[in-house]
Amino acid sequence: MQLSDAGLLKTDLFIGGRWSPSNARYDVIDPATGQTIAEVARATEESVDAAVTAAQVAQRKWRDTTATQRRDALAGLADALLAHEADLAAILTAEQGKPLAEAAGEIRYAAGFFRWFAEEARRVYGETIPAHRPDARLLVQRQPVGVGAAITPWNFPSAMIARKLAPAIAAGCALVLKPAEDTPLSALALAELVARADIPSGLFSVVAGNRDDASRLGTALCLDPRIRKLSFTGSTRVGKLLLEQCASTVKRVSLELGGNAPFIVFDDADLEAAIDGVMVCKFRNSGQTCVSANRIYVQAGVYDEFTSRLHERIDALVVGPGADAGSTIGPLITTAALKKVEQHVTDARSQGAKLITGGKPHQRGGTFFVPTLLTDVPDSSLMHSEETFGPAAGLTPFNTEAEVVQAANDTPYGLAAYFFTTDLARSWRVSENLESGMVGVNTGLISTPEAPFGGVKESGLGREGSRHGLDEWTDIKYVCVGGLGQ
Ligand code: NAP
Repeated sequence: MQLSDAGLLKTDLFIGGRWSPSNARYDVIDPATGQTIAEVARATEESVDAAVTAAQVAQRKWRDTTATQRRDALAGLADALLAHEADLAAILTAEQGKPLAEAAGEIRYAAGFFRWFAEEARRVYGETIPAHRPDARLLVQRQPVGVGAAITPWNFPSAMIARKLAPAIAAGCALVLKPAEDTPLSALALAELVARADIPSGLFSVVAGNRDDASRLGTALCLDPRIRKLSFTGSTRVGKLLLEQCASTVKRVSLELGGNAPFIVFDDADLEAAIDGVMVCKFRNSGQTCVSANRIYVQAGVYDEFTSRLHERIDALVVGPGADAGSTIGPLITTAALKKVEQHVTDARSQGAKLITGGKPHQRGGTFFVPTLLTDVPDSSLMHSEETFGPAAGLTPFNTEAEVVQAANDTPYGLAAYFFTTDLARSWRVSENLESGMVGVNTGLISTPEAPFGGVKESGLGREGSRHGLDEWTDIKYVCVGGLGQ
């Protein structure tokens, strides 16, 4: 990894504004080569305790800053991310595997959260309420929640942190982060940029660790009464566990969990746009996104044409290491992820699905998988009930709008949903009837800092991004001023 600013490659813990070494370390692996790229320090419960103690001190200072100071700090972080875009993208690709162009896009997306919440920091407005008696005045203030904890996944190792850290700083909170085992380097590079910024020491700490540490670190964060909020992005399974653990201290909890997005193509759709939509929605990040198209329903009248045009586009993808110019699809994160995609393909075929292309590990070996297209995937298949989280698209034909909306909603998840149609009335009807927190109409790309990201049902609680993302980091305080006479 060639960096123009080698100081961004950090491998120690970042606690209370200082880099803390540890003898206990674990290997961070480049998924494209299987080689170790760094040995990162492992945090303990004592590290969490020290980080929370420092966070409390820093937060008391930070909550008294003006909105303009917080705006300036966040705008500075946005600028710093953009100034180091190439290095940050190189680090991200090395540990996560996505093509460099996508990694650079993620850094710009992450910077966008700092920019957006810099602006929102100045709009943490309160309210006055017409009083219930003549001698009183009723006010509502929004105050910072306090010290927060974040636990983040590996698939967007920079953006998922920015989406939590930026609103926390804007609201006047501190944050202790546990990043994913596979991708701590992006988190630590961000910590280095925070260390260089005009932000109190301790406002942001990073307690990294491997999978053996995750449960202990998570429990320490959830049970600490000084932490008033947990913001988690990851699987529904772990989200449920953390929600239970947070009950003991009645923390505020935001959960961005798994999805099972339906992607519906109606007969009247612009097919080229729908195919562009599937390509970006299904194959970006090798299909490892929570809002990835998981069940692709295509109406009978365009099913065959859609299949053959999508087949051509899938075969044109270039599988290779993310760092190689020209690669459009990188490796999967781990061998377990590869096995899951294989299992989904095998299961669908055993239930009658037809393999059009791919369907097997790539000849490059490691965790590369050949981009795959299956048709006639039944609703009883694993591809329809679980996230495939890989570059395998499965098509299912349908006849009527009512039938497909029912099938789309037949899942405990409700994160994102997509459909393509040129019928205006249908676009309103279907978007209102889909049970999901986010709907893409005639687009496969919906994420942006300005919009509220989040799910319904078992896909989560709360929203990130947009003005609603700031609400997650503030408590409402009602003040009743009495004795004012008449
Ligand atoms: P995961 O296994 O739930 O891991 C997410 C984070 O939780 C990681 O930091 C992980 O640490 C940690 N963790 C695991 N077990 C834990 C425990 N017992 N206590 C505390 N922390 C624990 O999810 P993943 O496989 O990394 O990520 C993929 C999932 O995230 C998918 O379901 C995807 O849909 C979802 N996701 C959702 C969104 C959204 O916005 N809704 C965005 C991105 C991803 P280790 O890495 O050390 O195991």
